[in-house]
Amino acid sequence: MTKIKKIGVLTSGGDAPGMNAAIRAVTRTAIYNDIEVVGIRHGYEGMINGHFKRLKSHNVSDIIQRGGTILKSSRSEDFKTEEGRKKAYDNLKEEEIGAVVVIGGDGTFRGAKEFSQDYDISMVGIPGTIDNDLYGTDYTIGYDSALNTIVEAVDKIRDTASSHNRLFFIEVMGRDAGFLALRSGIACGAEAILIPEVRRDTATLKNYLETGYKRKKFSNIILVAEGDETGGAFGIVNDVKDDFKEYDMKVTVLGHIQRGGNPSAFDRVIASQMGVAAVEAILDDQKSIMVGMMNREVVHIPFNRTIKHHKDINRRLLDIIDILSI
Ligand code: ADP
Repeated sequence: MTKIKKIGVLTSGGDAPGMNAAIRAVTRTAIYNDIEVVGIRHGYEGMINGHFKRLKSHNVSDIIQRGGTILKSSRSEDFKTEEGRKKAYDNLKEEEIGAVVVIGGDGTFRGAKEFSQDYDISMVGIPGTIDNDLYGTDYTIGYDSALNTIVEAVDKIRDTASSHNRLFFIEVMGRDAGFLALRSGIACGAEAILIPEVRRDTATLKNYLETGYKRKKFSNIILVAEGDETGGAFGIVNDVKDDFKEYDMKVTVLGHIQRGGNPSAFDRVIASQMGVAAVEAILDDQKSIMVGMMNREVVHIPFNRTIKHHKDINRRLLDIIDILSI
C-alpha cells in the first residue's frame, strides 16, 4: 500500500463533458481511503502558480451532471519548460502532495510523463477528450456526450435538408482523428463522411460524391472532420461546388457546442469507473500510467504506450456507411 497521504487532481487541455464526474469520483474515492485531496485549478498552470484548494466530499456535490470542469482547464506553455516543471514540483512538495491525477488528452499525458520522469511524484491519467483519439482505451470521457450532441444537431439539419434539394456539409470536431465524424455519421444516417484517416484529392473526392450518392438522392448529409486535409467543410464546398450546380450546398460548422452540455449517462459511468480506478492505481503505487477501458474492463496503460501509439479507426464502420447509404 502507498504511503501517499495527499493527492492532487486537475483537468488540462480541451475540456470535455464528464470531467466533473471524474473529479467527483477521484475526490470521493480518495476520501473513502483516508487520503486528502487538493483541486489544482487551471491544469498545469495551477501547479506552477500554486492554485490549490482542498476538496472535501461536499465540494463535489451536484457536479456529476454538469458539463465543463469546475477546476477549469488551460494550455500551459510554461509546463513545457524545465523551469516551469521545477516550480510545479516545488509547489507540490510544499503542499506534501505525493501524486496527481491528470484528466485530459494526449498532450496532458505527454506533460505528465515528462514530469514523472524527473520528479518523485506519481502521475496517473484519466482520458478526458471528446475526440476519443487515445490509444489504450476504447472510450474517452466526453466522446459519447459529444456524439449525442452532434446527432441531435444533425437530425434537425436533416429536416431542412430534405425539405429542399440541399446538400449539407456538416463539420464536426476532430483535428487529427475522424472518430466523431465516423460514429455520428452512422448514427445520423449520413450519406458520406470525410475524415483525416482516408486520403482523397479533389478529383477522387468529386468522383466519390458523384458516384456515392448524387444520382440517388435529392438531399444529403455529409459529415466532415475538421482535420480532413481537404480543408474542412468550407474547403470542400469551394472545391466541388461548380460540379454540383443543381444542389444548394450548405455548410454548418457545429463548433464548440460539441464540447458543452450535460454528460451522457455513459460518460458519467465511465468517468466514475476511471476516477475510482485512478485512485486505486495510486494506492497500488502505480506511476506514470493512464487508466482506460478496454472491452468494458478497466486497464492500466503506461503513458509511454498511449503517447507513442496511434489509435486507428474501425475500418469496418467505414464500410457500414457505404453499405447503408445506398
Ligand atoms: P490535450 O491534453 O487535450 O491533448 P494539449 O495538447 O493542449 O491538450 O496539452 C495540454 C497541456 O499539456 C499543454 O498545454 C502543456 O502544458 C502540456 N504538455 C503537452 N505536451 C507537453 C510536453 N511535451 N511536455 C510538457 N508538457 C506538455
